[in-house]
Amino acid sequence: MAGPQIQYIIKQSSEPELIKNAFEFAEEAHQGQKRASGEGYIFHPLRVANTLSAMKLDSKTVAAGLLHDIVDDTDKTLGEIEEKFGKEISFLVNGVSKLGKLRYPKEELTLEPIEMRVKNPIDLRAENLRKMFFAMAEDLRVVLIKLADRLDNMETLGSIPPKKQQRIALETLEIFAPLANRLGIGDIRSKLQDLAFMYLYPKEYEWLLKNVQERYETRKKYLEKVKKVLTKILKKEGIKIIDIHFRPKHYWTLYQKLLKHEKNFDRIYDLVALRIIVKDIKNCYGVLGIIHKFWRPLPGRIKDYIAFPKPNGYQALHTTCFCLNGKIIEIQIKTQEMHDEAEYGITAHWAMKEGINLKSQRKNFAWVQQLKDWQKKITKPKDFLEGLKIDFFRNRIFIFTPKGDVIDLPEGACPIDFAYAVHSEIGNRCSAAKINGKITQLSRPLKNGDVVEIIIDKNKKPSKDWLKYVKTSLARSRIKNFLKQDSPAENLKNFLKKKVEQIRALPKFNRQPKLPKKPKTKMAISLSGHTDIRSHLAKCCSPKEGDELKAYITQNHTIAIHKADCKDFLKLQKKWPQKTIEAKWKKIIR
Ligand code: MN
Repeated sequence: MAGPQIQYIIKQSSEPELIKNAFEFAEEAHQGQKRASGEGYIFHPLRVANTLSAMKLDSKTVAAGLLHDIVDDTDKTLGEIEEKFGKEISFLVNGVSKLGKLRYPKEELTLEPIEMRVKNPIDLRAENLRKMFFAMAEDLRVVLIKLADRLDNMETLGSIPPKKQQRIALETLEIFAPLANRLGIGDIRSKLQDLAFMYLYPKEYEWLLKNVQERYETRKKYLEKVKKVLTKILKKEGIKIIDIHFRPKHYWTLYQKLLKHEKNFDRIYDLVALRIIVKDIKNCYGVLGIIHKFWRPLPGRIKDYIAFPKPNGYQALHTTCFCLNGKIIEIQIKTQEMHDEAEYGITAHWAMKEGINLKSQRKNFAWVQQLKDWQKKITKPKDFLEGLKIDFFRNRIFIFTPKGDVIDLPEGACPIDFAYAVHSEIGNRCSAAKINGKITQLSRPLKNGDVVEIIIDKNKKPSKDWLKYVKTSLARSRIKNFLKQDSPAENLKNFLKKKVEQIRALPKFNRQPKLPKKPKTKMAISLSGHTDIRSHLAKCCSPKEGDELKAYITQNHTIAIHKADCKDFLKLQKKWPQKTIEAKWKKIIR
């Protein structure tokens, strides 16, 4: 039963004895317990451990995965775990159990129509909760175990009552999927999102499934052909391909994208995107150039995430081209390292068996950079794990409003900072604060976890002294603004401004009668029939209205408009005929 699975995990581990003991301990502790589906309880921690092992995490984390539900669900205690497996593992198990007790305020989680989510994807309050989550988990590995736990709970969600399903699925979509995204673990993120999608929006999910399956199939067949051609071309050009494959877009992200494009599948170019994995960054750009030589790229759709990584650290080159038979496809080019990072996030660097993999890459997200810096400084795996203890939130404190909302502030912030973070009017009118129920001065520094209530006085005004206490730039600028507006000179200016407005508002005479407006027209350049594509006039020949035109896709992937008889253009056309486009002047109505 559980035999082959645990044998596999043991084989993968560098501490097989530890995994074996943890499994036996967990199996005995959960003896006789069943999950909602009726299967033996042990299969759940076993799958969690398997996920962690597949992420190439260290043996202690995998063992903690096996033990993660023991304290909450069995007679065994944390003390027993510590005695048998040591401090580090009991710390991880305890962390997971503590996270499980974190309550999300009810109003935080409301199921809104799916369209609203697309329009308004960033939920500030949920973002605060995610930060809380990090702050509470003192070790990143705790968060990873929790994610693996949540993934299995989502995969087995079918057996529990619908109401509970909804709550768990919503929590997954709001908290856990963004968390996985933040850590760059694309693989878990998309699995969580697609499962949550199925439970939260079953109608939309079914619609998508019905519409997408056939399209996926045709698309795959087509890409199979493209793959063959491309492999040949790249071989000829001397590029070594490590892997070339395609994968359908995940359902949740696809549906979001469809909503933005009137549910028109023809406008989704990456329904199934082609991925090329090459040896190094130089080859990435090389492949991009070769592709553009053969297939014309769609202007404005070439994305260089290598030079400009996404906030979560994602790197790759993306381009969208007119491919075989003029069909539009998206191609992604990356190195193996970038690919692993996109799937497994920061855990991609933890491949303990192979030591720590360090290639300097530019990351523009502060905490990703911080992790990287640790990796550079620390060479021993043990020290590295020490370094992973999350302290990138060490300089932040989390303060609660009386209603339980979380406000995230820098260390040393005082109630005035808090008041301005809640609302600028509350800041401008605050007179005192209650910290954990006790009245205190506005200048007192806050501590992590404080509950703060601001007492407002309508006649109160910000004072210059406040600038000495506040730590946030928000509070500082609001206070300065207020002081400026409150000065005598400013008051006179405002008085005069009001007077002028009053005079302007008086009824006017001698108005011109309104004439019907003629429609305005303007000359625009039409490129293969489209007048909405951006282009610029070439400097070499500066074409004027009425000239016969030709367009050329430049090296920078912009479109230059030349006179049809421009010498420079004719030269380019001879060399790169596939980069020229038909162009002409066209009158358009504005
Ligand atoms: Mn669990």
